Amino acid sequence: MLRTLLAFTLAIQPVVAADLPDLGEVSRQYFSDQEEQAMGRAIMRDVYADPRYLDDPEIESYLNQLGYKLVSVSTRNQREFTFFVVDDPSINAFAMPGGNIGVHTGLLLAAQSESELASVVAHEISHVTQDHIARMVAAQSQSYWPTMAALALALLAARSNPNVASAAIASSQAYSIQSQLNYSRDYEREADRLGYDMLTRAGFDPRGMSGFFNRLQRASRFYDSSAPAYLRTHPLTSDRISDMEARSDAAPYHQVEDSLDFQLVRARLRARQDSPQDAVVAARNTLKEKRYSSETAARYGLVSALLRTRQFREAEAELQKLPSGKSGSPMIQQLAAQTALAAGNQALALQRYQSGSSTYPGYRPLQYGYIGALLSARRSNDALAQLDRQLSLYPLDRRLWRFAAQAHAQLGHRLLSHRAQAEAAALSGNLMAAIEQITLGIKAGDGSFYEMSAAEARRREWQALEKAQRKE
Ligand SMILES: [Zn+2]
Repeated sequence: MLRTLLAFTLAIQPVVAADLPDLGEVSRQYFSDQEEQAMGRAIMRDVYADPRYLDDPEIESYLNQLGYKLVSVSTRNQREFTFFVVDDPSINAFAMPGGNIGVHTGLLLAAQSESELASVVAHEISHVTQDHIARMVAAQSQSYWPTMAALALALLAARSNPNVASAAIASSQAYSIQSQLNYSRDYEREADRLGYDMLTRAGFDPRGMSGFFNRLQRASRFYDSSAPAYLRTHPLTSDRISDMEARSDAAPYHQVEDSLDFQLVRARLRARQDSPQDAVVAARNTLKEKRYSSETAARYGLVSALLRTRQFREAEAELQKLPSGKSGSPMIQQLAAQTALAAGNQALALQRYQSGSSTYPGYRPLQYGYIGALLSARRSNDALAQLDRQLSLYPLDRRLWRFAAQAHAQLGHRLLSHRAQAEAAALSGNLMAAIEQITLGIKAGDGSFYEMSAAEARRREWQALEKAQRKE
């Protein structure tokens, strides 16, 4: 598949539309849907293996919710998107092939409103829906060729050798390639315009866009060395800023309030910065001096920091002051359960997870927590029942499959445990590991006739897919 990408690089001439910057609806001329999906998963495999990937279901869930709120109002071609968080203090966000959009923690913390964050995410979504990356690859064949080839080789090497180290190398290359993807001015203007449409349709404040970019530009000019990463890849011109301002000036003014979850995510990120003691002091001061836009979020941040210093009694006391149930947020329910669990009160944790997941049945981080707690309590059958329901809703969730592997292992189901591990590996883009795991499961020989033939069919499917990827 990646060789196909390289072949395209040589074969396709730059596509120049006469009516730039409105490049119009893009036909899927560069990659097939399948190719793009396979490339997207291969990229995510490297992202997941990278130490900078922030494996925090709550923050990731928030970002995906925000992203899909924007995608759902996009008028351009719809596809699968994956939004993920990179633990990096620089202000940056980027789109990669396959609809993968990364947002740095630095950007989440620097945004002064949810509309500002949404404006950057909407801009990145537009780069994806307009196939700008593929177009750039096609257009820059000469200068771009060596780095693209290096990326392809690194990804292929990582795929044929399923160890984390080589995947991490590939991903650092993928990031460095990404940092060299400088969008043209026309692409920038198109992404601005479509991003703006999404932003207003989804009910965000369109002034967020010019506000954020203005600040970013000032910051990079005067003092902040963390800003240029984004500006280098998304060249910001005074034309762009005045276009954004003209658009938002024409829009009727309406105040848009930030969601509670936006505030909670930022408080959560702040609470994990610095040493545990410093984080507690900072959170206490924020609350005492009322330097917050949401008291609930400030208190949520304090509880998160207190968990790091293992001050459970004070954490519990602060939790009691937070809104619970429907008037709060699933993130608060989750924190309450985590606090009980960390303090060693398993029964209370289970009770909180259960009530949280019935109040917010669609919130998966609570399900992960609940299932994890059931497994630690060795209530394997209850965990499995919960997992079956969740997997029937979200069969592509690699975290659920990992829990399923654990539950089956606890129950001594060897085939089913390996099968679940295999599914998790395949969903993380690691077909070699998937084939290895399912082979171990088949060899274990403890499945029913039906389970055995299902596993064999699955193995054949993955083998064919893996072979096809290697061939291309
Ligand atoms: Zn851009």
